[in-house]
Amino acid sequence: MKIGIFALQGAFLEHRQSLEKLGAETIEIRRRAHFSDGLDGIVLPGGESTVQGKFLREEGLLNPVKQAVEGGLPVFGTCAGLILLAKELTNDRNVYLGTMDVTVKRNAYGRQLGSFRADVELKPVGLFPAVFIRAPYIEKAGTNVDVLAEQDGKIVAARQDNMFVTAFHPELTEDLRAHAYFLDMVRGK
Ligand code: GLN
Repeated sequence: MKIGIFALQGAFLEHRQSLEKLGAETIEIRRRAHFSDGLDGIVLPGGESTVQGKFLREEGLLNPVKQAVEGGLPVFGTCAGLILLAKELTNDRNVYLGTMDVTVKRNAYGRQLGSFRADVELKPVGLFPAVFIRAPYIEKAGTNVDVLAEQDGKIVAARQDNMFVTAFHPELTEDLRAHAYFLDMVRGK
């Protein structure tokens, strides 16, 4: 199983380590040419969505990735990755891939509460140690979206078909269950 991790900026190395511990092969995607047909799934890591979105656009990756995701390529988006996948952002006029039927608020916890840890009930795996860093949350989700976790009444993890997103950073913990869930998704389980 080969997973491509977008690796221009942000927490991509930690995703590689988590997935490799689970036995997946990973490659880093930095250029258009790295995004090939041979990928079984992709990861959009946390970081800065504006920087990552600009990179996708400038590398000519925005449309190919959008089409692949629309065509069913499994994707795991964490934090900024969730922002890139959202159809709508409440406090930003940009839309990047726009494949997921969710409205997302960026930097939703304000400056003071920008970063924190909380145990959240992540439906497919159970109680999960979630690390939030200047995190977004999902304000609105379409009826075709499964809410997988909530924190303080806000949606912080969800799935729509081949798209799995978390507002928090599972790659920054030792807990591999969110990545294992994603690999199960890739296997079609
Ligand atoms: N605040 C970032 C953004 O809006 C996301 C933060 C993160 O990925 N940890 O892009």
